[in-house]
Parts: sequence; C-alpha cells; structure tokens
Amino acid sequence: MAEPGVTVTFAGSGDAFGSGGRYQACIHVRAQGAAPFLVDCGATSLTALKAAGLDPGEIGTVFVSHLHGDHFGGLPFLVLDGQFTGRTRPLIVAGPPGTAARLRQAMEVLFPGSAEVARRFRVEVTELIPGGRTTVGGVGVASFEVSHPSGAPPLALRLTVGRQVIAYSGDTAWTDALPAAAAGAGLLIAEAYYYDKVIPYHLSFADLAAHRDELACGRVVLTHMSADMLGREDQPGFETAYDGRVIQLPEFRV
Ligand SMILES: [Zn+2]
Ligand SMILES: [Zn+2]
Repeated sequence: MAEPGVTVTFAGSGDAFGSGGRYQACIHVRAQGAAPFLVDCGATSLTALKAAGLDPGEIGTVFVSHLHGDHFGGLPFLVLDGQFTGRTRPLIVAGPPGTAARLRQAMEVLFPGSAEVARRFRVEVTELIPGGRTTVGGVGVASFEVSHPSGAPPLALRLTVGRQVIAYSGDTAWTDALPAAAAGAGLLIAEAYYYDKVIPYHLSFADLAAHRDELACGRVVLTHMSADMLGREDQPGFETAYDGRVIQLPEFRV
C-alpha cells in the first residue's frame, strides 16, 4: 500500500542525448488510492520504468509537456507493452493540441500497422488547451504555453494531485508562464539544460537562479541536464534529479 501523500520517482531525468547515461524525461507520480501517472514519456521510458522497478501496466495517464521524442517518443513502446502483456485498463494520454495525430504517426513510423490494431484496452488522447485547466484521470491539470518549438504548442504543466501541486517546466526558454505554473506548488521540476550558456528555447541554471525569487513554490528540482550542468549540480537552493530518485511529498502542502 502506498504511503499517504505523493511519491514522485524520476525514472528518467536526462536530456535528449543520453548525457550522464541517463534515461530521457519520465517522471512517475503515485498518490494513494489512484493509478500512477507519468509526466513525459521519452523514447527510453519503458526501459527506465522497468529499471526503476515500476510496472508500466499500472499507469493510468501520461501527461506530455511537448511533442519532442525525448518527451513523448516512449508512448508507442508503452502502448505495445500493454498490448503484449494483456493490459485491459485504458491508457489516457494528455498532451498539447496535435498529440493524437503525432502519436498515430509515431506508432506507424516505428511499428507499421500498430496505430489501428485492435487491442484489449483503449488509448484515449485528451488534448490540453494552452491556458486552460481541466481534470484528466483524477488529476487537475493547468496548461501554460511556453517557448520551445516542437510542432505543437509546448506546455508547462501544473498538476494537482490530492492536496499537492506539482509544477513542471517541460523544455522552454525563460517565460513568465513559469512563475504562474509554479505559484503555490509544493514541488517545481524544472529543466536546467546548461549552467549559464544560452541555448535557444531552453532554460539554464542561471535563468532559474536569476528568477528564483519569482518562483513562489516549495522545492525546486532540476532535471534534463546536459553534461555541462551535470558537472555543476551542487547549487544552493536547488535540488537535482537523478534516475531512480524518489521524492516523497507530504499529504498536505506546507
Ligand atoms: Zn527535451
Ligand atoms: Zn524539447
């Protein structure tokens, strides 16, 4: 039985290119009495989940920040794993406008015929409207458009799980959407791609440090780090993710 509160496991905490030998973005969230969900599902995520001892068949919903392969490319593998292990529970995918078409395309490119095959479970896609809020799979989700071209509107996400709020930057240049998404959250998961080098459409650690006062949230955990940033992980005021790291959030926000 799960502990009270919310358990966040970084199954994958890496960037797109395997820096540090890490798996791509895949954050597993479990709250008592509900099916666990993922926040992003990069191409390596099925392996990442199994390496962390997490059952892919339990996952009820996958929230997707944006449609880059290191954030959504694991979905075809997750769906097919469900198909070949006799999954019956529906799988909900909640992502930016365009997610349904891109998922279908990805499945057809990687495993021709897989998009339309009959399965014992449904894959239900919910497209999140930038600036909107809704409830998906029992989780409240607010979406904030950020700055990261990826063929569809990229989103920062604010997820309300029981009495806890988890905010996630996805990939983005600094934007005022981030303080809005993070306000009052117990945990902000933020990409810190490079230490201070300016990479278009990505956050650096220096961006987050310069704007830390605007982030009215509890813990800030850095993820999606390049080799450059992995060499400078130890920064006051910030924690860092690693594959397999588990963070326990209390039942109540403090
Ligand atoms: Zn990325
Ligand atoms: Zn990206």
